[in-house]
Formats: sequence, C-alpha cells, structure tokens
Amino acid sequence: MRLSRNKKVVAIWDRRDELRKGRAAAETLRTACPGAASVRVELEFRSAAGEAHVPQVFSLFPPAKAHFVYPCPYGDCGGLYDLQAVALQALHGKQRRSRGTLKCAGSRSRDPTIGRPCELQMSYSITLAMERRSHAEELPAAATEP
Ligand SMILES: [Zn+2]
Repeated sequence: MRLSRNKKVVAIWDRRDELRKGRAAAETLRTACPGAASVRVELEFRSAAGEAHVPQVFSLFPPAKAHFVYPCPYGDCGGLYDLQAVALQALHGKQRRSRGTLKCAGSRSRDPTIGRPCELQMSYSITLAMERRSHAEELPAAATEP
C-alpha cells in the first residue's frame, strides 16, 4: 500500500522547487519598493476543525528577495499561499498595512487515493515600514523633476 508514496513526495518536492525558483527570480525589496526599511509579514492559520497552528512571522529587509509565497503548514499538503500580487501592490503603492484571508488550494493526501482539499484558512497582515528620511520625504515629488 505504499505505491503512491513516492509520487506524492515528488509532487511536494516540485512545489518546494517552484518556490525556490520563484524566490530566485524575485526582485529585491530595495528594487520593488525604494525607501522601504522593512516589511513584516504575519500569517495566522485556522482550520475548520479549529486545530491550532503556530503563527508565522517573516521580516524582510532591503537586500532580501521580495517574494511572498508560503508553503501550507501541513506536512502532507503541497499547497502554497501566494501573496505575491497582494504584497507587490502594497509595496508599489506604499501601503502601510494590508490584510486579508486566503484558503489553501492544495490537497492533503494522508490517503493518496483520495487527496481531500486542504482549505486551511490563513489570515495575513503585511506591514510596510519606510525609511525615515526627515528631509527627502517632505519634499514634493515635483521638486525632483528637471
Ligand atoms: Zn494546505
């Protein structure tokens, strides 16, 4: 009864690989949002059954990759939470805080023949801190144009 086991491992490995490639291809925080001092990403998970999951917190600094895709905390789920579009929109718009909720679109396969949908709910909060430049920030944008 272990026939599908390897297949499942490969599927999850593919996801992790995808994640690594995405991170490698991402621009840095400095490029995505010049003037950003840091970005703090907080993730909270809540399953329908009320199971508790440890919240996750990530802090990014200017040289870090602006990559906001996180694997589902269930070890048997290959799902990813993709906050890339939301986070980049917040960075480009210099939004101080973005919040929302996503459901895991992966499937859990403790029994590989069934693979029921995971649907673990994740609430995120993305907080952007800008560098304090007392003078530069006060200048109107037009002043820098020729
Ligand atoms: Zn999941």
